[in-house]
Amino acid sequence: MKPYSLAEVAQSLGIAHWQKEQVWPSSVIRGRTHYAHAAWHELSSPIDCVSHGRQALAQDDEISQAIGAAHEAFLVWRNWPAPRRGQVVKAIAAQVAQHKTELARLIVLEAGKIESEALGEVQEWIDLCDLALGQSRQLHGLVIASERPEHRLIEQWHPLGVVGVITAFNFPVAVWAWNAMLALVCGDAVVWKPSEKTPLTALACMHLVSKVLHEQGAPAGLVSLLQGDAQIGQQLAQHPTIALLSATGSCRMGRAVAQHVAERFGRSLLELGGNNALIITPGADLALAIPAIVFSAVGTCGQRCTSLRRLIVHESLIDAVCQQLVGIYGQLKIGDPRHTETLVGPLIDGIALQAMKNKIKEAIQDGGTVLCGGQVVIGVPVGHYVQPAIIRMPGQTAAMMEETFAPLLFVLSYRTLAEAIALNNEVPQGLSSAIFTQDQREAEQFISAVGSDCGLANVNVGTSGAEIGGAFGGEKATGGGRESGSDAWKNYMRRSTNTINYGASLPLAQGVHFDVKPDPE
Ligand code: NAD
Repeated sequence: MKPYSLAEVAQSLGIAHWQKEQVWPSSVIRGRTHYAHAAWHELSSPIDCVSHGRQALAQDDEISQAIGAAHEAFLVWRNWPAPRRGQVVKAIAAQVAQHKTELARLIVLEAGKIESEALGEVQEWIDLCDLALGQSRQLHGLVIASERPEHRLIEQWHPLGVVGVITAFNFPVAVWAWNAMLALVCGDAVVWKPSEKTPLTALACMHLVSKVLHEQGAPAGLVSLLQGDAQIGQQLAQHPTIALLSATGSCRMGRAVAQHVAERFGRSLLELGGNNALIITPGADLALAIPAIVFSAVGTCGQRCTSLRRLIVHESLIDAVCQQLVGIYGQLKIGDPRHTETLVGPLIDGIALQAMKNKIKEAIQDGGTVLCGGQVVIGVPVGHYVQPAIIRMPGQTAAMMEETFAPLLFVLSYRTLAEAIALNNEVPQGLSSAIFTQDQREAEQFISAVGSDCGLANVNVGTSGAEIGGAFGGEKATGGGRESGSDAWKNYMRRSTNTINYGASLPLAQGVHFDVKPDPE
């Protein structure tokens, strides 16, 4: 297969002409591109580190313009009936489906994930549009029994305002889509700050969406894009017009953002780092467990928030499990993610590679034994390609309390299920977890109130690869947010509780008497 180039993919997505004198636009506001000249950074693909131009960074005036335009658009958009807003999202799905392959290829080039996973990510956007379309007819509230005669008590959900969306590099399309598609049907406007590591994928998404919004007659400014780094993210967090800030990324980022938003009594929706574990019980079906472990640990080169970091195996099986895993790791095809046989692409950058190397050193100092991996791969393009590593640990150490965003799997043994669950829960993060068992008691204990403390707790399913229908997110240092399916739409709306008196008297709640005689005049 001839590897495709960024120029070809940008051309097929219709954004090639947006690059002017090597510079990509710093923002897209009201469907128009802007090019700030004050600051930029160099772009290159993690596949081969070859430069593909400069990314201009949005400046203060663009930030105010984008937020101002979004607020104006919101004032109009909130009056559109929700099912009609749903039709706009349906049209977005059709547009995305037409460009699925090209958009996936841009993800491959910018984020370095393999094409099958990139196609899955674009499919997630399309699926999310389906979910949002259905949701647009079900933004329903409650009718509650009133304690007072001839009174009605109801709850309604109204559009919220301007939603700021900050996204991470590893899901440059799906996470934005989870937020934006639901926000749109809920009647909100969106200002997006993507990761500085995947700006072109964001430009392509904006191009597809802006075209549909224009064709559908949606108010200009409804969806805007601001390119930039943490500083722009911080400005969104501090801006009083951003009613909800949805931020996906590291715990470090979430801690900073949450404080800024809380300071102005704004709302934040945090989807932060994970440190996910999988338990192998004595009776586990290893034919299911082993492939699930491998996909969870090395898929997306270990760069998913739900990637498997800690494998907790019953002491009776640990040697057999490690042996099987080492055998499979030895055969993994690592290399250019554009090749169909590749299973593991590059790490996003040299910083990620260094973090993995440092963590391996730390684990060895703590008494860990490297069973395989950790070496830089040679004979592939110049990028940050690494052999996924497995390290057997004598116990859960301080080094294992942090997320290392790389294909590095720690293995621990346990004796009792209570001990395994305690190890699962011991880390500060609480995103994803799994148990492999054929014993119903073990399975039920793991997902019970005294089992896994994570937002996602699976049985005989790996830690990564969630479906969109459920609420996605995690507890503790993962931030507590829930996105995607279930009732996640409520994040993007405000609740209004209404008490309506249709009688001729004015009884007070809780039987309170407060007699005031109206003036007979
Ligand atoms: P990152 O925290 O470096 O950056 C994420 C985004 O936040 C980027 O857009 C970045 O510019 C912005 N940002 C960084 N610091 C900021 C600050 N102080 N104020 C405002 N914005 C700031 O993360 P990354 O390396 O892009 O992504 C990897 C991390 O994201 C991992 O920790 C991973 O677990 C997490 N993640 C979580 C989920 C989830 O749903 N829980 C999904 C994907 C990724």
